[in-house]
Amino acid sequence: MRITRKVFHDLAIWMIAFGLLIGIVFPFFVILLGVSAQVALTLGFFLSCLGAGALAGIINFVLSRVVVGSRMRVLARAMTHIEENMLSMTATGDMAQCTAEDCLIEVDSDDEIGESAVAFNRLVGSLSYSMETQAAVRSFSEMLTSKLELEGLTQQALSQFMKHTGASGGAILCEAGGELTVSAAHGLLETDSLASNDHVRLAIRTGESQTVLIPDDVQVDGVLAQFRPAEIFILPATYKSIPLGVVILAAVEPFSTEARARMELFRHTFGLALNNAIAHDRLQRLAALDPLTGAYNRRFGLGRLHEEFDRAVRMNSPLGVLMMDIDHFKVVNDTYGHLVGDRLLVAISGIAKSILREGDILIRYGGEEFLAVLPAASSEDLRLVGERLRRAVEDASVTDGAQTIRATMSLGAASYPNQSVEKENELVQLADAALYAAKESGRNRLILSR
Ligand code: GH3
Ligand code: MG
Ligand code: MG
Repeated sequence: MRITRKVFHDLAIWMIAFGLLIGIVFPFFVILLGVSAQVALTLGFFLSCLGAGALAGIINFVLSRVVVGSRMRVLARAMTHIEENMLSMTATGDMAQCTAEDCLIEVDSDDEIGESAVAFNRLVGSLSYSMETQAAVRSFSEMLTSKLELEGLTQQALSQFMKHTGASGGAILCEAGGELTVSAAHGLLETDSLASNDHVRLAIRTGESQTVLIPDDVQVDGVLAQFRPAEIFILPATYKSIPLGVVILAAVEPFSTEARARMELFRHTFGLALNNAIAHDRLQRLAALDPLTGAYNRRFGLGRLHEEFDRAVRMNSPLGVLMMDIDHFKVVNDTYGHLVGDRLLVAISGIAKSILREGDILIRYGGEEFLAVLPAASSEDLRLVGERLRRAVEDASVTDGAQTIRATMSLGAASYPNQSVEKENELVQLADAALYAAKESGRNRLILSR
């Protein structure tokens, strides 16, 4: 029952009133105990009893105020201190700083005050967990929106997934042209078989997460890992219900409910980011690659040549170009049709890609003309590579029913700084002139510009 707006005032009123009541009742009580009414029912005795009752009430009140009040003040001070700590942690976004010392009240009693402290600690716990999750989602989304390249995105995403779920290893597989390929992996020994794993396939097919618990007594091989996982979680990443990939996370302890909840939170953002990255990747390819042969298209390829030529001049290093043109290609088209001609073109560009080194650039320069840019290649390197290309094309064939179709190729080469050119297109013109000379002198040969 509330009398005033302050608990201790209420307590004072109740205690003093109770003391006075005892003071009033006490003289009658002592009569029952045998004291004579003449002694007990005098004004003096009444006043002394009332006084004693009131005094006992006041002392009780003071004691409870000291004992309970001081405990309550300690509790309030601790709560204020923790609130200040949490506010400053929110400002830095690092809730990991919320240690027991900074964020929890020491519980030293098992009464109502102790219970309040326990309840407060629990509240702080769930608050800091939810702030941590919020910060994790924020940093995850920030990272995802800052990455558009598929590989960079999946690597970053994997490390964030691992950091916020306690996983010790994992992989991200992306779907491209109906196939799953590993785009990022960490801590797994063997990733090649992941794409054909039944659980992974099931996750992709159903769009539902899969859990694989590995009992202690089971020997694991294949999928795993530099550590011994107790649980593997397979999380499909989808966008508008279309499966785009899977996130595979492995942990030495089974994942906590909180970790699972976080995975689900991350999953949706990741699906969206993955979709953007795949779209970006496709656009990049569309803008840069020739759709038939997969070589760079002329516009993009010449841009790359320009960069490489600038670099060669700056670094004072050689740069070679090879201009290639298939011999009598018109005859192939006229005899076997354009589709067969196209297949021959694809085969020849495949040969060129396989012979050129990583870092070399293959450009579809015109219909059946290719330009290869070879950074750091001397004229001797150019000669060797050019001859290898010429011979490989000579040996290659495509079939059309019972027919075997072969072709040869003429090549012209020019290299910087052998040729003292100032612009890359002068180098291309020299290679083109050498190609013309190769055609003129009987085809199926390589001529180096001197
Ligand atoms: P040369 O030995 O002098 O090079 O004779 P050529 O017949 O190859 O002459 P040229 O290089 O001028 O011929 C180009 C031919 O390549 C003409 C065209 O029909 C064919 N061509 C160009 N682009 C394509 C293509 O994308 N597909 C197919 N099938 N043929 C193409
Ligand atoms: Mg041509
Ligand atoms: Mg030709």
